[in-house]
Amino acid sequence: MSLLEVNNLVKHYTRRKSLSNKSRPAVHAVDGVSLTIDKGEVLGLVGESGCGKSTLGRLIARLEEKSNGEIYFRGKEISSIKGGSLRLLRRNFQVIFQDTSSSLNPRWKTRPIIEEPMLNFGMEKSLRQNKCDELLDLVGLDKSDAEKYPHELSGGQRQRVNIARALALEPALLVCDEPVSSLDVSIRAQVLKLLQSLQQKLQLSYLFISHDLAAVSTIATRVAVMYLGQIVEVLPAAGLEKAAAHPYTRALIEAVPMPDPHRAGALLRPAVRGEPPDSSKPPPGCRFHPRCPLAEERCRIENPVYKKIEEQHYAACHLL
Ligand code: SF4
Repeated sequence: MSLLEVNNLVKHYTRRKSLSNKSRPAVHAVDGVSLTIDKGEVLGLVGESGCGKSTLGRLIARLEEKSNGEIYFRGKEISSIKGGSLRLLRRNFQVIFQDTSSSLNPRWKTRPIIEEPMLNFGMEKSLRQNKCDELLDLVGLDKSDAEKYPHELSGGQRQRVNIARALALEPALLVCDEPVSSLDVSIRAQVLKLLQSLQQKLQLSYLFISHDLAAVSTIATRVAVMYLGQIVEVLPAAGLEKAAAHPYTRALIEAVPMPDPHRAGALLRPAVRGEPPDSSKPPPGCRFHPRCPLAEERCRIENPVYKKIEEQHYAACHLL
């Protein structure tokens, strides 16, 4: 049994009527997503900005209500539970956001920030203090950092505080939503390495969301590729560059910045061509067809079936 299983999850945002009182089409943020995450597994979730990755993460962490579909955690359907049961369930899921500042109360020092989730679950003071000291050590912060305010810490240190706070209740799954994107390049690798070592040490499962395929492939076990609210390919992270088969995944790989051998230090490679379509009006047939260099006539009409390509490798494309 998987730790987490998502079946045909849908999130549509209805929009207010326009000034002329015309109803406007709903935004299809997540449109029929199914996936699994095993215990101790890191599932990378990649795709361009606005493809629905963060919404999917928030749905899984139960920070947003679904429009349709099911979410199973350890075999139990959890997408509709509410009240006290939801509060108890939430300790199993924690989210690490991109913005290192907004998730920390600027008026609180590090210690109460890290201890707050434990306080909310009734842990007594001495246990909280001991656990907080343990967590500071675990994430590579100094004991003296416990007495600092967020503005006295660097971006990397603030993200370490966020990680320590997320681990306070010993969750099973961390939803890491672009956790290193706002950090300086030099700090990114350190925080990524920290997340990787914590995952291994604590046997955690991650949904690791990023637009950066290179960052995802260094930490993930498998990679799911999302386009306009749908998963178009899932495959093992090892050997992804060669094995990726969907034209969108191939385009993302081509867009990964690589040093240009003719211009020292330059970062050049063509990006995915064109802009993603409006998610309130997804194209018919294959949603990627307006941007796909291999599109055929049927791609404009028929939705490709999501099918098995090889062991642990699935994709939705008429050519596969
Ligand atoms: Fe391209 Fe057609 Fe495959 Fe879609 S189904 S990715 S348009 S080839």
